[in-house]
Amino acid sequence: MTSDEIAELAGALRAGDRRALARAITLAESTRPDHRDQAEAVLAAVLPDTGGAVRIGISGAPGAGKSTFIEVFGLHVADQSHRLAVLAVDPSSARTGGSILADKTRMTELARRPDVYIRPSPGGAHLGGVARRTREALLLCEAAGFDVVVVETIGVGQSEVAVADLVDLFCLLVAPGGGDDLQGIKRGIMELADLLIVNKCDGDLAAAARRAQADYANALHLMRPRWSGWTAQVLACSALEGSGIDEVWQAVEAFGAAVRDELPAVRSHQAVVWLWSELQDTLLDRLRDDPAVAQRLGPLEAEVAAGTVTPTAAARELLDRFSSS
Ligand code: GDP
Repeated sequence: MTSDEIAELAGALRAGDRRALARAITLAESTRPDHRDQAEAVLAAVLPDTGGAVRIGISGAPGAGKSTFIEVFGLHVADQSHRLAVLAVDPSSARTGGSILADKTRMTELARRPDVYIRPSPGGAHLGGVARRTREALLLCEAAGFDVVVVETIGVGQSEVAVADLVDLFCLLVAPGGGDDLQGIKRGIMELADLLIVNKCDGDLAAAARRAQADYANALHLMRPRWSGWTAQVLACSALEGSGIDEVWQAVEAFGAAVRDELPAVRSHQAVVWLWSELQDTLLDRLRDDPAVAQRLGPLEAEVAAGTVTPTAAARELLDRFSSS
Protein backbone atom coordinates (compact mmCIF):
# COMPACT_ATOMS: atom_id res chain seq x y z
CA MET A 1 0.00 0.00 0.00
CA THR A 2 1.29 3.45 -0.88
CA SER A 3 1.05 6.31 1.58
CA ASP A 4 -1.74 7.78 -0.56
CA GLU A 5 -3.69 4.53 -0.23
CA ILE A 6 -3.15 4.55 3.51
CA ALA A 7 -4.42 8.13 3.72
CA GLU A 8 -7.40 7.13 1.60
CA LEU A 9 -8.18 4.17 3.88
CA ALA A 10 -7.85 6.38 6.96
CA GLY A 11 -10.17 8.95 5.38
CA ALA A 12 -12.81 6.35 4.50
CA LEU A 13 -12.53 4.94 8.01
CA ARG A 14 -13.06 8.37 9.57
CA ALA A 15 -16.11 8.83 7.36
CA GLY A 16 -17.58 5.71 8.98
CA ASP A 17 -17.18 3.40 5.98
CA ARG A 18 -17.68 -0.14 7.32
CA ARG A 19 -15.69 -1.80 4.54
CA ALA A 20 -12.76 0.46 5.32
CA LEU A 21 -13.11 -0.43 9.00
CA ALA A 22 -13.18 -4.15 8.23
CA ARG A 23 -10.14 -3.78 5.99
CA ALA A 24 -8.17 -1.82 8.60
CA ILE A 25 -8.99 -4.39 11.31
CA THR A 26 -7.93 -7.21 8.98
CA LEU A 27 -4.59 -5.46 8.49
CA ALA A 28 -4.22 -5.06 12.26
CA GLU A 29 -4.99 -8.75 12.79
CA SER A 30 -2.57 -9.94 10.14
CA THR A 31 0.73 -11.47 11.16
CA ARG A 32 2.44 -10.32 7.96
CA PRO A 33 5.00 -7.63 8.78
CA ASP A 34 3.97 -5.44 5.79
CA HIS A 35 0.34 -5.59 6.91
CA ARG A 36 1.32 -4.70 10.47
CA ASP A 37 3.28 -1.70 9.15
CA GLN A 38 0.25 -0.58 7.17
CA ALA A 39 -2.03 -1.08 10.17
CA GLU A 40 0.30 1.01 12.29
CA ALA A 41 0.30 3.76 9.69
CA VAL A 42 -3.52 3.77 9.57
CA LEU A 43 -3.71 3.79 13.37
CA ALA A 44 -1.26 6.67 13.58
CA ALA A 45 -3.34 8.63 11.06
CA VAL A 46 -6.62 8.14 12.93
CA LEU A 47 -5.32 8.28 16.51
CA PRO A 48 -6.65 11.84 17.10
CA ASP A 49 -10.13 10.54 16.24
CA THR A 50 -10.10 7.78 18.84
CA GLY A 51 -11.23 7.77 22.46
CA GLY A 52 -14.84 8.79 21.84
CA ALA A 53 -16.59 5.57 22.80
CA VAL A 54 -17.73 4.12 26.07
CA ARG A 55 -15.73 0.91 26.22
CA ILE A 56 -17.58 -1.99 27.86
CA GLY A 57 -16.09 -5.40 28.60
CA ILE A 58 -18.52 -8.30 29.00
CA SER A 59 -17.23 -11.54 30.38
CA GLY A 60 -18.83 -14.71 31.66
CA ALA A 61 -18.55 -18.47 31.65
CA PRO A 62 -19.78 -20.35 28.59
CA GLY A 63 -23.55 -20.70 28.90
CA ALA A 64 -24.03 -17.68 31.17
CA GLY A 65 -25.94 -16.06 28.31
CA LYS A 66 -23.41 -13.61 26.88
CA SER A 67 -24.51 -13.77 23.28
CA THR A 68 -28.21 -13.70 24.19
CA PHE A 69 -27.52 -10.73 26.46
CA ILE A 70 -25.37 -8.83 23.97
CA GLU A 71 -28.04 -9.29 21.31
CA VAL A 72 -30.85 -7.72 23.39
CA PHE A 73 -28.59 -5.18 25.08
CA GLY A 74 -27.10 -4.24 21.71
CA LEU A 75 -30.53 -3.76 20.13
CA HIS A 76 -31.56 -1.61 23.09
CA VAL A 77 -28.44 0.54 22.75
CA ALA A 78 -28.80 0.82 18.97
CA ASP A 79 -32.45 1.85 19.43
CA GLN A 80 -31.22 4.86 21.40
CA SER A 81 -29.37 6.10 18.28
CA HIS A 82 -25.98 4.83 19.39
CA ARG A 83 -23.58 3.21 16.98
CA LEU A 84 -22.44 -0.05 18.51
CA ALA A 85 -19.45 -2.26 17.77
CA VAL A 86 -18.99 -5.72 19.29
CA LEU A 87 -15.50 -7.26 19.35
CA ALA A 88 -14.56 -10.66 20.75
CA VAL A 89 -11.54 -11.88 22.65
CA ASP A 90 -11.58 -15.63 22.81
CA PRO A 91 -8.62 -17.42 24.37
CA SER A 92 -9.95 -20.78 23.18
CA SER A 93 -9.93 -19.59 19.58
CA ALA A 94 -6.27 -18.75 20.11
CA ARG A 95 -5.72 -22.43 20.70
CA THR A 96 -8.13 -24.03 18.31
CA GLY A 97 -8.44 -21.46 15.55
CA GLY A 98 -12.20 -21.44 16.20
CA SER A 99 -14.08 -18.43 17.40
CA ILE A 100 -16.89 -17.57 19.81
CA LEU A 101 -18.45 -15.30 17.26
CA ALA A 102 -17.86 -17.53 14.26
CA ASP A 103 -21.17 -19.24 14.92
CA LYS A 104 -23.52 -17.51 12.51
CA THR A 105 -26.53 -18.23 14.68
CA ARG A 106 -25.30 -15.87 17.38
CA MET A 107 -26.66 -12.33 17.51
CA THR A 108 -28.47 -12.70 14.22
CA GLU A 109 -30.81 -9.75 14.64
CA LEU A 110 -28.05 -7.48 15.89
CA ALA A 111 -25.82 -8.48 13.00
CA ARG A 112 -28.47 -7.27 10.54
CA ARG A 113 -28.54 -3.72 11.92
CA PRO A 114 -26.75 -1.20 9.70
CA ASP A 115 -25.67 0.84 12.75
CA VAL A 116 -24.02 -2.16 14.44
CA TYR A 117 -20.66 -3.70 13.61
CA ILE A 118 -19.81 -7.20 14.88
CA ARG A 119 -16.30 -8.55 14.57
CA PRO A 120 -15.43 -12.15 15.42
CA SER A 121 -12.37 -12.99 17.44
CA PRO A 122 -9.17 -13.25 15.44
CA GLY A 123 -7.93 -16.82 15.54
CA GLY A 124 -4.48 -18.30 15.38
CA ALA A 125 -2.60 -16.25 17.92
CA HIS A 126 -1.81 -16.47 21.60
CA LEU A 127 -3.97 -14.56 24.07
CA GLY A 128 -1.66 -11.57 24.31
CA GLY A 129 -1.69 -11.20 20.54
CA VAL A 130 -5.46 -11.55 20.32
CA ALA A 131 -5.99 -8.95 23.04
CA ARG A 132 -3.49 -6.57 21.46
CA ARG A 133 -5.26 -6.73 18.13
CA THR A 134 -8.58 -6.22 19.87
CA ARG A 135 -7.23 -3.02 21.38
CA GLU A 136 -6.29 -1.83 17.90
CA ALA A 137 -9.68 -2.89 16.54
CA LEU A 138 -11.32 -0.91 19.35
CA LEU A 139 -9.41 2.24 18.42
CA LEU A 140 -10.31 1.74 14.75
CA CYS A 141 -14.01 1.39 15.66
CA GLU A 142 -13.83 4.64 17.61
CA ALA A 143 -12.20 6.39 14.67
CA ALA A 144 -15.07 5.11 12.49
CA GLY A 145 -17.54 6.84 14.81
CA PHE A 146 -18.82 3.95 16.92
CA ASP A 147 -19.64 5.44 20.30
CA VAL A 148 -20.34 2.22 22.24
CA VAL A 149 -17.83 -0.61 21.93
CA VAL A 150 -18.48 -3.95 23.62
CA VAL A 151 -15.56 -6.33 24.04
CA GLU A 152 -16.78 -9.84 24.76
CA THR A 153 -14.63 -12.50 26.35
CA ILE A 154 -15.22 -15.99 27.71
CA GLY A 155 -14.67 -16.12 31.44
CA VAL A 156 -11.95 -18.66 31.81
CA GLY A 157 -9.55 -16.58 33.84
CA GLN A 158 -6.64 -15.16 31.91
CA SER A 159 -8.55 -13.16 29.36
CA GLU A 160 -10.45 -11.00 31.85
CA VAL A 161 -7.39 -9.20 33.09
CA ALA A 162 -6.34 -8.35 29.54
CA VAL A 163 -9.86 -7.16 28.71
CA ALA A 164 -10.22 -5.15 31.92
CA ASP A 165 -7.11 -3.26 30.78
CA LEU A 166 -8.85 -2.49 27.47
CA VAL A 167 -12.16 -1.15 28.67
CA ASP A 168 -13.69 1.49 30.93
CA LEU A 169 -16.48 -0.62 32.38
CA PHE A 170 -15.90 -4.28 33.06
CA CYS A 171 -19.10 -6.37 33.41
CA LEU A 172 -19.29 -9.91 34.61
CA LEU A 173 -22.34 -11.87 33.49
CA VAL A 174 -23.29 -14.83 35.66
CA ALA A 175 -26.17 -17.29 35.70
CA PRO A 176 -27.76 -18.56 38.93
CA GLY A 177 -26.95 -22.14 39.92
CA GLY A 178 -25.05 -24.35 37.52
CA GLY A 179 -21.81 -24.05 39.49
CA ASP A 180 -21.63 -20.40 38.59
CA ASP A 181 -22.25 -19.40 42.19
CA LEU A 182 -20.17 -17.24 44.42
CA GLN A 183 -17.63 -19.96 45.18
CA GLY A 184 -17.28 -20.79 41.51
CA ILE A 185 -15.97 -17.39 40.56
CA LYS A 186 -12.42 -16.53 41.26
CA ARG A 187 -12.11 -13.65 43.64
CA GLY A 188 -9.60 -11.94 41.38
CA ILE A 189 -12.14 -11.79 38.58
CA MET A 190 -14.89 -10.47 40.85
CA GLU A 191 -12.52 -7.71 41.89
CA LEU A 192 -12.31 -6.57 38.29
CA ALA A 193 -16.08 -6.20 37.94
CA ASP A 194 -17.58 -2.72 37.89
CA LEU A 195 -20.95 -4.25 37.15
CA LEU A 196 -22.07 -7.74 37.97
CA ILE A 197 -25.12 -8.90 36.05
CA VAL A 198 -27.07 -11.94 37.20
CA ASN A 199 -28.75 -13.19 34.04
CA LYS A 200 -31.63 -15.68 33.68
CA CYS A 201 -33.73 -13.94 36.30
CA ASP A 202 -36.90 -15.53 34.92
CA GLY A 203 -39.25 -18.48 35.45
CA ASP A 204 -37.93 -21.18 37.75
CA LEU A 205 -34.57 -19.46 38.03
CA ALA A 206 -35.92 -16.09 39.21
CA ALA A 207 -35.73 -16.84 42.95
CA ALA A 208 -32.22 -18.27 42.69
CA ALA A 209 -31.19 -15.24 40.63
CA ARG A 210 -32.46 -12.82 43.28
CA ARG A 211 -30.64 -14.78 45.99
CA ALA A 212 -27.45 -14.73 43.93
CA GLN A 213 -27.88 -10.99 43.42
CA ALA A 214 -28.02 -10.44 47.20
CA ASP A 215 -25.01 -12.72 47.80
CA TYR A 216 -22.91 -10.95 45.18
CA ALA A 217 -23.93 -7.55 46.49
CA ASN A 218 -22.63 -8.55 49.92
CA ALA A 219 -19.41 -9.98 48.51
CA LEU A 220 -18.72 -7.00 46.23
CA HIS A 221 -19.32 -4.68 49.14
CA LEU A 222 -16.10 -6.04 50.63
CA MET A 223 -14.06 -5.55 47.48
CA ARG A 224 -11.83 -2.62 46.83
CA PRO A 225 -13.47 -0.45 44.18
CA ARG A 226 -11.51 0.27 40.99
CA TRP A 227 -12.78 3.82 40.81
CA SER A 228 -13.13 6.47 43.46
CA GLY A 229 -16.38 7.73 41.91
CA TRP A 230 -18.01 4.35 41.32
CA THR A 231 -18.91 1.45 43.57
CA ALA A 232 -19.51 -1.90 41.87
CA GLN A 233 -23.18 -2.72 41.39
CA VAL A 234 -25.08 -5.97 41.07
CA LEU A 235 -28.08 -6.10 38.74
CA ALA A 236 -30.40 -8.90 37.65
CA CYS A 237 -31.86 -9.33 34.20
CA SER A 238 -33.35 -11.83 31.82
CA ALA A 239 -31.78 -11.69 28.40
CA LEU A 240 -34.37 -14.19 27.24
CA GLU A 241 -37.34 -12.04 28.26
CA GLY A 242 -35.61 -8.71 27.79
CA SER A 243 -36.26 -7.61 31.37
CA GLY A 244 -33.72 -5.57 33.33
CA ILE A 245 -31.84 -4.62 30.16
CA ASP A 246 -32.67 -0.92 30.38
CA GLU A 247 -31.39 -0.92 33.99
CA VAL A 248 -28.06 -2.22 32.73
CA TRP A 249 -27.86 0.58 30.14
CA GLN A 250 -28.82 3.14 32.79
CA ALA A 251 -26.02 1.81 35.00
CA VAL A 252 -23.60 2.21 32.07
CA GLU A 253 -24.67 5.83 31.68
CA ALA A 254 -24.48 6.47 35.43
CA PHE A 255 -21.00 4.95 35.43
CA GLY A 256 -19.93 7.25 32.58
CA ALA A 257 -21.08 10.31 34.50
CA ALA A 258 -19.54 9.12 37.78
CA VAL A 259 -16.04 8.44 36.40
CA ARG A 260 -15.86 11.25 33.82
CA ASP A 261 -13.12 13.11 35.73
CA GLU A 262 -10.93 10.10 36.45
CA LEU A 263 -11.36 8.38 33.07
CA PRO A 264 -8.52 10.21 31.24
CA ALA A 265 -6.00 9.20 33.90
CA VAL A 266 -7.21 5.58 33.89
CA ARG A 267 -7.01 5.38 30.10
CA SER A 268 -3.52 6.90 30.14
CA HIS A 269 -2.45 4.28 32.64
CA GLN A 270 -4.01 1.53 30.49
CA ALA A 271 -2.07 2.80 27.47
CA VAL A 272 1.19 2.56 29.42
CA VAL A 273 0.27 -0.98 30.54
CA TRP A 274 -0.23 -1.81 26.86
CA LEU A 275 3.13 -0.30 25.97
CA TRP A 276 4.78 -2.71 28.37
CA SER A 277 2.82 -5.71 27.17
CA GLU A 278 3.72 -4.71 23.60
CA LEU A 279 7.41 -4.53 24.57
CA GLN A 280 7.19 -7.89 26.28
CA ASP A 281 5.58 -9.61 23.28
CA THR A 282 7.83 -7.98 20.72
CA LEU A 283 11.01 -8.63 22.68
CA LEU A 284 10.13 -12.29 23.15
CA ASP A 285 9.34 -12.68 19.44
CA ARG A 286 12.65 -11.07 18.49
CA LEU A 287 14.52 -13.14 21.03
CA ARG A 288 13.08 -16.38 19.65
CA ASP A 289 13.83 -15.32 16.06
CA ASP A 290 17.42 -14.32 16.84
CA PRO A 291 19.83 -16.81 15.16
CA ALA A 292 22.43 -16.64 17.95
CA VAL A 293 19.74 -17.42 20.50
CA ALA A 294 17.98 -20.05 18.38
CA GLN A 295 21.24 -21.98 18.06
CA ARG A 296 21.55 -22.45 21.83
CA LEU A 297 17.87 -22.48 22.80
CA GLY A 298 17.22 -26.21 22.23
CA PRO A 299 20.38 -27.47 23.95
CA LEU A 300 19.95 -25.13 26.90
CA GLU A 301 16.30 -26.11 27.32
CA ALA A 302 17.42 -29.75 27.43
CA GLU A 303 20.11 -28.97 29.99
CA VAL A 304 17.65 -27.07 32.18
CA ALA A 305 15.19 -29.97 31.90
CA ALA A 306 17.95 -32.42 32.87
CA GLY A 307 18.90 -30.27 35.84
CA THR A 308 22.48 -29.73 34.69
CA VAL A 309 22.06 -25.97 34.22
CA THR A 310 19.91 -23.65 36.31
CA PRO A 311 17.13 -21.70 34.56
CA THR A 312 18.77 -18.49 35.76
CA ALA A 313 22.13 -19.32 34.19
CA ALA A 314 20.49 -20.46 30.95
CA ALA A 315 18.40 -17.29 30.74
CA ARG A 316 21.50 -15.17 31.31
CA GLU A 317 23.45 -16.94 28.57
CA LEU A 318 20.57 -16.52 26.09
CA LEU A 319 20.10 -12.85 26.99
CA ASP A 320 23.85 -12.20 26.64
CA ARG A 321 23.79 -13.78 23.18
CA PHE A 322 20.74 -11.68 22.28
CA SER A 323 22.15 -8.37 23.44
CA SER A 324 25.52 -8.92 21.76
CA SER A 325 24.03 -10.10 18.45
P1 GDP B 1 -22.94 -17.76 26.18
O1 GDP B 1 -22.24 -19.07 26.01
O2 GDP B 1 -22.54 -17.09 27.45
O3 GDP B 1 -22.83 -16.86 24.97
O4 GDP B 1 -24.49 -18.11 26.39
P2 GDP B 1 -25.72 -18.13 25.36
O5 GDP B 1 -26.18 -16.74 25.10
O6 GDP B 1 -25.36 -18.96 24.19
O7 GDP B 1 -26.84 -18.83 26.24
C1 GDP B 1 -26.66 -20.12 26.79
C2 GDP B 1 -28.03 -20.74 27.07
O8 GDP B 1 -28.70 -19.99 28.08
C3 GDP B 1 -28.94 -20.71 25.85
O9 GDP B 1 -29.67 -21.91 25.83
C4 GDP B 1 -29.84 -19.53 26.09
O10 GDP B 1 -31.11 -19.67 25.49
C5 GDP B 1 -29.96 -19.53 27.61
N1 GDP B 1 -30.22 -18.19 28.14
C6 GDP B 1 -29.57 -17.05 27.83
N2 GDP B 1 -30.10 -16.00 28.49
C7 GDP B 1 -31.10 -16.50 29.26
C8 GDP B 1 -32.05 -15.93 30.16
O11 GDP B 1 -32.08 -14.74 30.43
N3 GDP B 1 -32.92 -16.79 30.79
C9 GDP B 1 -32.93 -18.13 30.53
N4 GDP B 1 -33.82 -18.88 31.20
N5 GDP B 1 -32.08 -18.70 29.67
C10 GDP B 1 -31.18 -17.92 29.04
